[in-house]
Amino acid sequence: MVNDITAKINAFENKYLIEEVGEVTYIGDGIAKVVGLENVMSGELIEFANGTQGMAQNLENEEVGIIIFGDYDDIHEGDLVRQTGKIMEVPVGQSMIGRVVDALGAPIDGLGPINTARNRPVEHKAPGIMDRQPVKQSLATGLKAIDSLVPIGKGQRELIIGDRKTGKTSIAIDTIINQKGKDTICIYVAIGQKESTVKALVETLRKNGAMDYTVIVSAGASEPAPLLYIAPYSGTAIGEEFMANGQDVLIVYDDLSKQAAAYREISLLLRRPPGREAYPGDVFYLHSRLLERSAKLNDELGGGSMTALPIVETQAGDISAYIPTNVISITDGQIFLQSDLFFSGVRPAISAGLSVSRVGGSAQIKAMKQVSGTLRIDLASYRELESFAQFGSDLDATTQKKLNRGKRTVEILKQSIHKPLDVELQVAILFALVHGAIDEIPVDRVGEYENKLFDYLKGQHPELLHHISETGELPDEETFYHAIYDFNDTF
Ligand code: ATP
Ligand code: MG
Repeated sequence: MVNDITAKINAFENKYLIEEVGEVTYIGDGIAKVVGLENVMSGELIEFANGTQGMAQNLENEEVGIIIFGDYDDIHEGDLVRQTGKIMEVPVGQSMIGRVVDALGAPIDGLGPINTARNRPVEHKAPGIMDRQPVKQSLATGLKAIDSLVPIGKGQRELIIGDRKTGKTSIAIDTIINQKGKDTICIYVAIGQKESTVKALVETLRKNGAMDYTVIVSAGASEPAPLLYIAPYSGTAIGEEFMANGQDVLIVYDDLSKQAAAYREISLLLRRPPGREAYPGDVFYLHSRLLERSAKLNDELGGGSMTALPIVETQAGDISAYIPTNVISITDGQIFLQSDLFFSGVRPAISAGLSVSRVGGSAQIKAMKQVSGTLRIDLASYRELESFAQFGSDLDATTQKKLNRGKRTVEILKQSIHKPLDVELQVAILFALVHGAIDEIPVDRVGEYENKLFDYLKGQHPELLHHISETGELPDEETFYHAIYDFNDTF
């Protein structure tokens, strides 16, 4: 009996050890058609005669459609291709940190080869429900408007969405910079961006000391569509290695609109039926299977986490287009950036009304929860009153007061680029705001007030700030309040 089974197992394995070889019948636009690979699996890694890798996509009766990862200039009709029996893998591990790699994990930063012994498949099943635990720790972005209004927790997926040039990338980069000293590995996946843009970004990260814990995966605008399509999965595989080791990971996909466009291009070339906006029918799955891989693992699995910040570009603020609605429905909330806010100088240009975080609230520290509780409503009623106030009619005292507070709230939530703030300082300035300490400060001096208040607290009352960062709670409110009013007397 046992012998029978052993024999069968041997026979089974043997069948798949037989190497299948096919022949290229068509080549062009990063796509090849191949005949003769009868037992090929969907997603299987295929090798061309010149060493270039490809991935089996369309499995048809006679032919297999293959997307090519790399140069296809010297692949010709009639060339042989080899099945590998594997799915595509990328190198992973500690030595990836600080490096810039392409969509296949190969270094492109000129710093020499990467020594890793381990690989991971680019496509991987997401952790199941039992493997996870609820999001409960804060992943601080260092941005007041986000940490107070749309807090993000470790393991969460929060979409950053907005038109061109509204500060989407900057939010992600500042969040990475803010992870310094916080034991979080960051992965930034650049999809379809200009090489010079990525270079500048790496330089910014390096200057801010963030390359010490960051990996950049880049599939540039000039590269073939298959690489743009695969890059987010490669980045995720690199992140999964750290998550599996119990570490915290932050991954940014910048941006998924370009990945979807690359996938549409591939699909059209493979002659898949186009659907809405000419995307293939499975474009939802493109993003859902990617973002499902972010998680907060349970303690038995080491408690690691992967937090995702996917970025999507909108046209004229239209969040009801196909890709935006898909990704909104997959993620746990979105940060919506508005051009009009951006151009009126409200930066980061976060729309308080349209932005939401569905799980982050439980990850906010208590002190932040206390000072930011009414912020959203204050802002909403301010925007409403603001439009009335434009008519210039006499305003009653309460309305005037609300307008005053609202103006200062908007001012406080502004933040310069690459200047993330520690949570205790965020709490301090919001505490001052909600307790009316800023109501009398001229609007154009609010920024100056903030900076000087921080200096004062750091110099005169470091114990108050420590209390917040250590316990996550507000210090004795009376004392805190007086410290701030003492400062006000000097301002
Ligand atoms: P794209 O559509 O090109 O990807 P984007 O939405 O990612 O653009 P960014 O590249 O982040 O936008 O920012 C656009 C410009 O706005 C940059 O020059 C950046 O320096 C500036 N910017 C972004 N955020 C701020 C801010 N908080 N304060 C001042 N300037 C900012
Ligand atoms: Mg950008």
